[in-house]
Amino acid sequence: MLNQVADGVWVRQSEWVWSNAIAVRGDDGLILVDPGIDGADLTELADDVDRLGFPVVAGFSTHLHWDHLLWHSRFGDVPRYATKANADAVGGVRDRAQAMASQSASGIPVELIGLLTPMPADGGPVPGEIVEHEAHALGHAAVLLADRGVLLAGDMLSDVLIPMLDPRRPDQVAAYETALDRLGHAAEHVDVVVPGHGAVAEGPEVATRLAADRAYIDALRRGVEPVDARLEQEWLAGPHQGNLANAGIEH
Ligand SMILES: [Zn+2]
Repeated sequence: MLNQVADGVWVRQSEWVWSNAIAVRGDDGLILVDPGIDGADLTELADDVDRLGFPVVAGFSTHLHWDHLLWHSRFGDVPRYATKANADAVGGVRDRAQAMASQSASGIPVELIGLLTPMPADGGPVPGEIVEHEAHALGHAAVLLADRGVLLAGDMLSDVLIPMLDPRRPDQVAAYETALDRLGHAAEHVDVVVPGHGAVAEGPEVATRLAADRAYIDALRRGVEPVDARLEQEWLAGPHQGNLANAGIEH
């Protein structure tokens, strides 16, 4: 089910790691951001989109982890945009993303994974402003929809996932500090944050999310063990933890 979280912004959450697929109404139709996860989710999302009655004109991938690279033929053969860094690098991770998607969820059209194109300089059909950084993944992008008061945060500012540093990238602590600064500025314009996984944050919860990620990264910077409520969650110690690792969310 699509929940409207602001004017022209709808979110559908999957059972799998509370992944949020987002539909944004642009001038010419809908932009689908990180649609997922399994085949049933994707077809239900297609049904929901049909009911909205707007054509899908583009996709957008926030970053190059498999659960953010998905698509379905029912969304149409439209351009799927990403930052240049994401689009340039995705070819190198596509095989791995396809393998991880097959292992982690059923019914995913693997041939459609990761077919991305760099966003045009003027943004093309994607509304708002891209907030790019290198925390968690190369070319990771949030989308600031200032006119609707919404920030689509990608895999940042989640209430269920701690900050997951990309071990293949240099100095991720600094990358997170920079990213959180940028997202903090962006969040000054919004009262709704949609993370890639977890609950949509509204009102004062937005600042709480920023503070939680900042505190976690500050602890890493100081070399101490982070104290974080998200680490207490039962599911992190259960089957989901393996799921996350297998799924490559941490990569
Ligand atoms: Zn994710």
